[in-house]
Amino acid sequence: MRTADRSVHGGKIMSKSDVDVVVVGAGFSGMYLQKRLRDAGFSHRVLEAGGDVGGTWYWNRYPGARCDISTTDYQYTWDPELHEQWSWSEKHAAQPEILRYAQFVAKKHDLYSGIDFDVRVNDALWSDDTKRWSIHTSTGETIVCRHYVMATGCLSVPKEPDIPGADRFRGDVYVTGRWPHEGVDFSGMKVAVIGTGSSGIQSIPLIADQASKLVVYQRTPNYSIPAFNGPPPQYRVDRLVADRAAYEAEARQSASGVPITMPTVSALSVPRETAWELLETAWLKGELLETGIVFTDVGTNRAANDVVAEFMREKIRAEVQDPATAELLSPRKHPYGTKRPCMDTNYFQTFNRPHVRLVDLNTSPIRTITETGIDFGGESHDFDAIVYATGFDAMTGAIVNVDITGKDGVTLKQKWEHGPHNYLGLTTVGFPNLYMITGPGSPSVLSNMMVSIEQHVDWITDTLVDLRDKGFDTIEATPLAEEAWRKHCTDCADITLFQETDSWYMGANVPGKPRVLFPYIGGVGRYRRICDEVRARDYLGFVLEGAGRRQLNDGPIREIQPDVEMVLDMMATLGLPPIESMSPADARAFSDASSAMRPPGPAVGEIIDGTLPGPGGPLEYRLYRPSTTGPHPVVVYFHGGGWVFGSHTSDDPLCRALCTLADVVIVSVNYRHAPEDRFPAAADDGYAALRWVADNAAALGGVPDRIAVAGWSAGGNVAAVAAQLARDNGGPTLRGQLLLTPVTDGSRQHRSHDENADGYILTKALMEWFWNHYADPEDRSDPRASPLLAADLTGLPPAMIVTAQYDPLRDEGDAYARALESAGVPVQHLRARGHIHTSITMVDALPSGVAPRRRMADALRGFFA
Ligand code: NAP
Repeated sequence: MRTADRSVHGGKIMSKSDVDVVVVGAGFSGMYLQKRLRDAGFSHRVLEAGGDVGGTWYWNRYPGARCDISTTDYQYTWDPELHEQWSWSEKHAAQPEILRYAQFVAKKHDLYSGIDFDVRVNDALWSDDTKRWSIHTSTGETIVCRHYVMATGCLSVPKEPDIPGADRFRGDVYVTGRWPHEGVDFSGMKVAVIGTGSSGIQSIPLIADQASKLVVYQRTPNYSIPAFNGPPPQYRVDRLVADRAAYEAEARQSASGVPITMPTVSALSVPRETAWELLETAWLKGELLETGIVFTDVGTNRAANDVVAEFMREKIRAEVQDPATAELLSPRKHPYGTKRPCMDTNYFQTFNRPHVRLVDLNTSPIRTITETGIDFGGESHDFDAIVYATGFDAMTGAIVNVDITGKDGVTLKQKWEHGPHNYLGLTTVGFPNLYMITGPGSPSVLSNMMVSIEQHVDWITDTLVDLRDKGFDTIEATPLAEEAWRKHCTDCADITLFQETDSWYMGANVPGKPRVLFPYIGGVGRYRRICDEVRARDYLGFVLEGAGRRQLNDGPIREIQPDVEMVLDMMATLGLPPIESMSPADARAFSDASSAMRPPGPAVGEIIDGTLPGPGGPLEYRLYRPSTTGPHPVVVYFHGGGWVFGSHTSDDPLCRALCTLADVVIVSVNYRHAPEDRFPAAADDGYAALRWVADNAAALGGVPDRIAVAGWSAGGNVAAVAAQLARDNGGPTLRGQLLLTPVTDGSRQHRSHDENADGYILTKALMEWFWNHYADPEDRSDPRASPLLAADLTGLPPAMIVTAQYDPLRDEGDAYARALESAGVPVQHLRARGHIHTSITMVDALPSGVAPRRRMADALRGFFA
């Protein structure tokens, strides 16, 4: 189908070879983008390598090809009429039906007339002089455009068969991602299938129905859930009928682009029978996302993940008659969800059929493919056909396959040699006016693609309209914003189990690809809010130029750790009263109630509760001993709570973590609290407790001359003061001081008090409330209240100081680290990026705290080395 050479757009006559926008790809992305561009009056060309619309559903015609997302969710939302005019026959629509849907939409909206089919883009070149892209196509045409959009899909370039002898085979060869349009009849044939990802798992049962012999070559077994296909799920249909707009809005703000009830319970907190019941309920729904979200920690905690993985393996054992084959089909190495889980119809049962054989390539590797078959594991088998279900050069393959040259002659392939660096997964520095739809760095393949596609198309079109309205010709991300986005994506990936697995998500299936988590794992809703915020903040992280004007609005869009942000979001919805509005008694009750709800932390060898003599009476303590053989170095620990609340048990999870990670005895001390006992009671108690522990170290199972202090928040203050008092009052000699987000200066304001005054749990107002209860203004300059103000900081023990970016106390902690360093004290200073005052103490609740806690434990080990 060809379009006319000149066309009319918004009253302007356009040349076909000089347009506002070129779009590559006429799948669901390109189709919707075309519609939006036309409606917005942009001249455009859509170039498609295939012979029809549909993208992935045009190419992937292998037997059994179906969508794993329910048809209630895998459909456009931008045209409400479609919901009346089109009805789906099944929950998991098959490829022909989805292709028909794409064709139906294209006809309804007259999209065909604007698409050039059977045209590939060979290369694209940016000109900084004309501020335009030149696109060269396989038909020899050059098209000049202002904006260039890659709507090329994430799984559109099949991986080349990388098996020795692959080109020798004289029988039929099929690749699932490039299946013949006329279909294939395997009746009576001897067939080999290589690959057991989604494509293999969907096609194998149907190929087995026809073939006389089927050998499946498996390198990695996969988790697969039965699709239980049938009519679209009634509970979703009912919700759509009741309030379609609300349902779609929920999908857009959800984690994966499908409305789903998020879990509240850890897989490790329920007995096995309960876990199995919950998993069974999810399993029976036959929905891809359900089984992975039964528990809160499947994606972040290996032990929790194992609960789901074992449930899946049990299901395989129940279906596959031969126990050895069942074991071979059971994934054991990779955590559930870190490779894309599959959905199947009778996949595991297929291996009960007498003419089907499973070959484990780990024990029987393919030596070579021959003219007539496959040599593997000492055997040689002849085949009539080989089916490659070996996957794709995912996410970046289709983008870098086109030779794209940006500013200064740098190609995208060169720029992405070490990773697909980008901003928002939509743009990349050095390539102005180039956009990717569902590219790396966006939720993309980890989401319902329809939701992500529509969001990207809307963002891009709205941006183009803004640029036009404001007279800008170009938009380009800034290096600072791009680097911050890379860090944010890494922060999100770091708290998951994805990096443990060699998957195509990690680029690991294609030799030479950089190993990073390609999609953005922070969730569809969060991602949408970020993209919206970038526009609302006048294109934060972009430079816009045109008509002699330049707008640079630089900065990072998200620096807070993603799990910390989730906690803050959750707390914001609770509408809790500020602690500073409470009486000390109520604040203590509130603190105790909060503590009771948190995960307990790791098991330790032994816990002993006791009392020690303090200047104002006995002080309670809790001793944590590691399970290793002692004696151990001893850390005297002081809890947080603003000198007002907390106790020797209130930082229990953190004390357990430090005890096990650093292999030390921790003695957590309950010093006297304000307002009943004001300054300097806490300081006096801290020092007295330190002396007592040092004097009794051997009896406590510790090594007498290996003593350090540690503390968090106000406890960090007590620890720092105790270290100074020990230096000035004849001991004990300390090996180190570990201060986590400590209070060091109550005498004046620091910038972070205002910068992080509100919204990060510890507020400026609460800190003032603490100080008011603890010390009179004239006492706050006393170094026993403000250790930063000590006249002399020399001779203090080596310090590890941890400060958090979003903490009102950040700058006074930083200042103490600098002051100690200036005084010649060895200091390790960890500036915990994206953390808040409390987050590093939230053991087993916030995975992003794991790395800082390890650093703290390493520092403790270092003190005693
Ligand atoms: P895939 O998930 O990458 O699976 C490829 C399979 O081939 C894996 O089992 C892989 O083993 C194996 N393999 C690759 N190279 C091999 C070699 N040289 N020798 C032996 N085995 C080899 O690819 P896919 O099945 O085409 O699926 C890709 C993605 O497309 C899916 O994850 C999904 O996102 C999407 N998809 C979706 C649907 C749907 O929604 N219904 C259907 C199909 C595909 P290793 O695991 O050891 O690398």
